[in-house]
Amino acid sequence: MPERTLPSIHINGTSRQMPLLDYRGQHSISVALRFWSKVDTAPIDMCWEWLAKISKPSPYPRFKLGDYATTAHRVAWILSHGPIPEGLLVRHKCDNPRCCNPAHLELGTSQDNVNDMMNRGRHTKVSLAGSTNPRAKLDEATVKAIRAEYSTGTTSTIKLAKRYRVSQCLISHIVNHRIWKHCL
Ligand SMILES: [Zn+2]
Repeated sequence: MPERTLPSIHINGTSRQMPLLDYRGQHSISVALRFWSKVDTAPIDMCWEWLAKISKPSPYPRFKLGDYATTAHRVAWILSHGPIPEGLLVRHKCDNPRCCNPAHLELGTSQDNVNDMMNRGRHTKVSLAGSTNPRAKLDEATVKAIRAEYSTGTTSTIKLAKRYRVSQCLISHIVNHRIWKHCL
């Protein structure tokens, strides 16, 4: 039997072996089940958002493994691809901190993160409204249609979320005018 090596995690700059999370062994089944039960595993091309509580102020959800907690997207990567090589980060291609879709994750360096931030202009704190926001999943016309349909009282946020293939939370924000406020 080849010896199994456990993935390691980095805590305050030091690398430690992660307990429990042997993605090839028995433990992985219970850990994976517990982990994925907290994730909205939507179709493969969409973000799989973390459903459980997120401790502020970090926008990144965390998942507890034994005595350690690490970010959910790192766990998603380890469960899907194996250990994270020393010195590398797991990055979101979709720029959504809650997303755990392995297809939206990639390995990179902290310099890649800095480059991304500069390229996307996040450092200027520009807030883009509606469909001009590159992260927007819907356009103005669809938002109006969703609101019109919801106002008839014949549908629910769950039904609308399924039809438009977005989260119920997003629909709720739309019909309650918490987002897309410019689009009446
Ligand atoms: Zn995503």
